[in-house]
Amino acid sequence: LKHFPVDEVTENYPRQVSQAYSWATPKKTAEPKLIAVTQTLASDIGFNLDENLALFTDVLSGNALLEGMQPYAMNYGGHQFGHWAGQLGDGRAINLGQVKTQKSGLLTLQLKGAGPTPYSRTADGLAVLRSSVREFLCSEAMYHLGIPTTRALSLCLTGDDVIRDMFYNGNAKAEPGAVVCRVSKSFLRFGCFQLPASRKDTRLLKQLVDFSITQNFPHIGEPCKATYIEWFKEVSESTCQLIVHWMRVGFVHGVMNTDNLSIIGETIDYGPYGWIDNFDLNWTPNTTDSQGKRYCFGAQAEIGQWNLFQLANAIYPLIGDAEPLNQILNDYAERYQQRWRNMMASKLGFECYINDEDDILFIELEKIMTSLEIDMTLFYRVLATATAENSIDALRFFNDCFYQPEKLEQTDKLRFVEWLANYFKRLEKNKEDHNQRKQNMNSVNPKYVLRNYISQQAIEQAEQGDYELLNTLQIVFKRPYDEQPEFEEFAAKRPQWAKNKAGCSMLSCSS
Ligand code: AMP
Ligand code: MG
Ligand code: MG
Repeated sequence: LKHFPVDEVTENYPRQVSQAYSWATPKKTAEPKLIAVTQTLASDIGFNLDENLALFTDVLSGNALLEGMQPYAMNYGGHQFGHWAGQLGDGRAINLGQVKTQKSGLLTLQLKGAGPTPYSRTADGLAVLRSSVREFLCSEAMYHLGIPTTRALSLCLTGDDVIRDMFYNGNAKAEPGAVVCRVSKSFLRFGCFQLPASRKDTRLLKQLVDFSITQNFPHIGEPCKATYIEWFKEVSESTCQLIVHWMRVGFVHGVMNTDNLSIIGETIDYGPYGWIDNFDLNWTPNTTDSQGKRYCFGAQAEIGQWNLFQLANAIYPLIGDAEPLNQILNDYAERYQQRWRNMMASKLGFECYINDEDDILFIELEKIMTSLEIDMTLFYRVLATATAENSIDALRFFNDCFYQPEKLEQTDKLRFVEWLANYFKRLEKNKEDHNQRKQNMNSVNPKYVLRNYISQQAIEQAEQGDYELLNTLQIVFKRPYDEQPEFEEFAAKRPQWAKNKAGCSMLSCSS
């Protein structure tokens, strides 16, 4: 770190910082308590929780530092909802340092909610239990779904109260404070590069890009103009792949500001994210975004490209030629389309994408799922079991997937039946048999996704001091593609009571 310009002021008052990061000391907490941990990750990092529970609880909640840890908060800017917001930075995240692991190489440990930093602006640097449970569960669920993500090592209660304006009733309320320890190979975001670029600090910009290449993209070679272009290409590619994954499982990030996009293509910043129940490309979980729907489910690919465009602008001074950057940005749309088609073909159990007749099937299915209010996750699992023979009574066969089966219009029903007939016809081009198709489909269509109402239940119990559901969900979401008969209840579609209940559908930005 030391070769970077560092903000040597150690106090935590809010300020503009021209350097890449600032020293920041985590806040001591009243009564830290470890309530959930990712065991495999802990062992990979070398934490023996059985032997040193008290010490690690202290470290993972910000009360103690291990030898060699020199905590710091990173500086970055970003476009929020399409507008340049200037300096943002880690307002409630503090990096403890890096650790060498057997399985995953160098990993950075970061505490989220460990108190104010120079980047906290008017906020408190803290996190509440509810948002921390959401971050903890979702990071790990994503990991086991095979989707690039920051990991969650631990979840600690701090024993301190945190005051928040509750979305339930608009009143300020004390809530239990918590700290999640996040883990990643890199916490650099698009905004880390945008900030020095916006300040015409090309020297720092170059240092950061060089650092990113050396640290996380060593295979592209020594930093130089050509590798900067290659680096941007890799960032575009991993962003593209990430979003295709999100579309596959029905994940809506909800706040794809450029400060929330990881340079290594991981899902980062689990804020007002949500999961699709009834398929709807227009759905956004973010109440701040409910009007414009900038970050709705179906806009994610386009926003990814918009964000990459901002990153391209930022690094342009290092390259001095817009042409290769433009080329990569244009290719992004093409590559996304290809990847999306292949993903859809695999979801439907086709051996490969064939031609634009497949596109017609995909698009028609999206329209049907939307207008008939079909549960996305359930539908693909039921479809994997369907054959032309066993689903002759199609509406009954798929009955469980509809949110309002009694309200279906006759024309919609016919449309669904017709789509299904075309689907079975298309399946005839497969060489593999039904069982193989089912197996293939179930390996890309999860049975268990972290539906919003499920995490909300875990939160409500945890707020009462009961962590059983939280711990059970850790087990369930380790095998999201497997049938787990003992956990069938967590595969159920959103119950009626959860439709408009606070916390179960829409959320606000930062908590
Ligand atoms: P987000 O919407 O989570 O990406 O946050 C946007 C910015 O606000 C980032 O700079 C965060 O570090 C900062 N921020 C969010 N919540 C808090 C908080 N409770 N205290 C201090 N800074 C925060
Ligand atoms: Mg953020
Ligand atoms: Mg956030």
